[in-house]
Order: sequence, then C-alpha cells, then structure tokens
Amino acid sequence: MNENLTSSSIACLQQGAIMSDQIRVQCPKCGGTMKEKAKKIRGGFSMPCTHCSTAIVFESESNDSAIRQALSQARRMRRQTLALN
Ligand SMILES: [Zn+2]
Repeated sequence: MNENLTSSSIACLQQGAIMSDQIRVQCPKCGGTMKEKAKKIRGGFSMPCTHCSTAIVFESESNDSAIRQALSQARRMRRQTLALN
C-alpha cells in the first residue's frame, strides 16, 4: 500500500513539473500567495511580496516553513528539468 502511495505522488510531482515551472510562494508577513519561477528560487534569492511589498528572503535556514518548502520544491523542480534536458 505504501508503494501505491509513493508512485502516485511521484506521478503527481512529475505532472506538475511539466505543466508549470512556477512555485507558489507564501508571504511570511501578510500570508498572500504569488508565483515565481523555480529556477530563480534558491538560497539567498529575495523578491518583494506582490501584496505588501515586504522582501521575501529565501534561505534554507529560514524560520518560516513556507520558505523552506518553496526552496526544496524549487530544488526538486530544477533537478527534474535538468534530467529532462
Ligand atoms: Zn506580503
């Protein structure tokens, strides 16, 4: 049963990578969401929130779990893109 769960979630991830290379980012300050390209999101990258203009800094040691999640998601997507090329 665990095998089924694993393979279906991998299929889901692969589908997501093909359809879009954008990561959903949540602002730690206002909670608003926006999208940014996976290849731009890496440690040290920062972008202004489109809702409240706060600079969102992407660091793997961030206290914000949404930031860490976006970073690891971006890493995974970049790896898939490289594998496809
Ligand atoms: Zn914001």
